[in-house]
Order: sequence, then C-alpha cells, then structure tokens
Amino acid sequence: MIPSSDKVAFGDVEVVRLLDGTIRVDGGAMFGVVPRTLWAAKAHPDRENRIPLALNCYLVRTPTATVLLDTGVGPDIARRHVDFYSYERRPGLLAALAGLGLGPDAIDVVVNSHLHFDHCGGNTTRAAGAGWTPAFPRARYVVQRGEWEQAMNPVERDRPSYMPARLKVLAETGRLALVEGDAVVAEGVEAVVVAGHTASHQGIKVTSGDRTFFYLADAVPTTAHIGVDTIMSFDLYPVDTFNAKKALLATAEAEGWILGFGHDLATPFAVLRRAGTRLDAVPAAGTENG
Ligand SMILES: [Zn+2]
Repeated sequence: MIPSSDKVAFGDVEVVRLLDGTIRVDGGAMFGVVPRTLWAAKAHPDRENRIPLALNCYLVRTPTATVLLDTGVGPDIARRHVDFYSYERRPGLLAALAGLGLGPDAIDVVVNSHLHFDHCGGNTTRAAGAGWTPAFPRARYVVQRGEWEQAMNPVERDRPSYMPARLKVLAETGRLALVEGDAVVAEGVEAVVVAGHTASHQGIKVTSGDRTFFYLADAVPTTAHIGVDTIMSFDLYPVDTFNAKKALLATAEAEGWILGFGHDLATPFAVLRRAGTRLDAVPAAGTENG
C-alpha cells in the first residue's frame, strides 16, 4: 500500500510517489566536489561508501489525464545493473501502481526526465518471443528530442547509461512524442527543460489552482542536493546544472512549490524554507487544499 507520506493533493490534482525500488551509489559520485565530511552526516554511507537512493516515479492524476513521470529501472533490469547497484525491488513501479488499483492501461502519458536506464527502464517490457514492447499500451511517451537523439546515439562517456535497443520500439509503434523545449503535455502539466545532468534533461511542472508541484528529477536528485553547489559528478554539464538549479530553486522558494526528487527515499515531497543564506527542505505531504 502507498503510505500517506507519498501523496500530495492540491487544487484538483493528486500526485503520488511510486517507488520502483532502491539502489546504492557511491557517495562521492553523488555529491561531486563536496567533501565527504559534509555529505556523510546527512547521507549515511555504508562500508563501501555507498548511499541508498530511491528510484522515484510520480503519478499525476488530473481531471483529464493520468500522467506518469519516469519509470525507474523497470521489471527487466539488466543483471549487471542489479549487481553493480545492489538493486532491490520494493515494491516496483507496477506493484505500486496496482496498489492504487491501476493497471498499465490507466496511463495516458509517460514523461521521461531523461533516458538514463534508471529513469526509463520501465518504459518497455520484454515482448512475447523476442524484442521489446511498450509497457503502457495506451500511453504517449514524451521525451525531449535532444535526449532521444543522445540515447539512440550515445557517445563513449554516456554509453553505459543508455539502452537504445529497449527504447526503439516506442518510435516504431508510434508511441513516441518528441518535444523541443518547454511543452505542455497535458492540461496543467508542462515539461520544462532543466539542462545540466544531460544536455536536454527536463523537469515537470504541475499546476492547479494557485499551487505548483515540480518534479526536479536529477537536477536535484535528493533533498541533500538543495545547496546550489552540490552537484553530482555524473552531471555532464555541471555549470548548466548550477545555473538552472539556482534560478529554479529561487522561484520554487518564492512561489512555495512542492518539489519532487529523482532519488530521495525518505522525502518524496518537500517545500523550501530559507534559513539565512541556506535553503532547507521541509517534508510536505498530504492535502494542501483550503
Ligand atoms: Zn537518476
């Protein structure tokens, strides 16, 4: 079942964090140039210096559409990824969805922040016989054109992150909807380019009434990354991440946005509070109406 800390409702929308599972990733890689003594207190590394990360997906239910933001590693995660990242499926995207009484055909739109394997692995499943098939049979899959092109033709540095053979079927079956720049993907749901982690990485903004939810994906993977200079060493364009984050978090603070994160396990929803020069993440969940 979905815990109440994993849901927010505001205006006439509901957003639910669906947990595809957890992985363990080297703490140094997650916090870039930040010294271990600073991040270790918050992130609790294990004996191998790895920290636990959630594979967060978010379900957005509006009066007119059911939209899924990212799809985790999916049910067919490669063995090498299970071993390397100590992946644990708990509960898994499809099981979490079933916990809401929903099957794959309930999804109208899938939006991928980017196409690294841990954000789009659930886009497709193994087809009977051979090859791959769209996991959400009715869905339109919204991806930035630049990200799609990168995923289809990865360069040496990002080849391990992409799995083009699993994604091609989305184009072949006419399910793929490429966008360029900011784009409305459903009523009240907008894809917003937040470059840096990859050149065409995007966040997703959901607005209803006077409230906004913003899914930051890997621009701010956990609440421990709220500080502008805390940037993952995975980021291909760290200066872009710095600038995009700074602008976005200033707006998020000013407008009281509810934020969602690509990899925060304990805090799927947070709002920002300023403490002097520092911004803190305060957990936010529940119903924000009235
Ligand atoms: Zn990620």
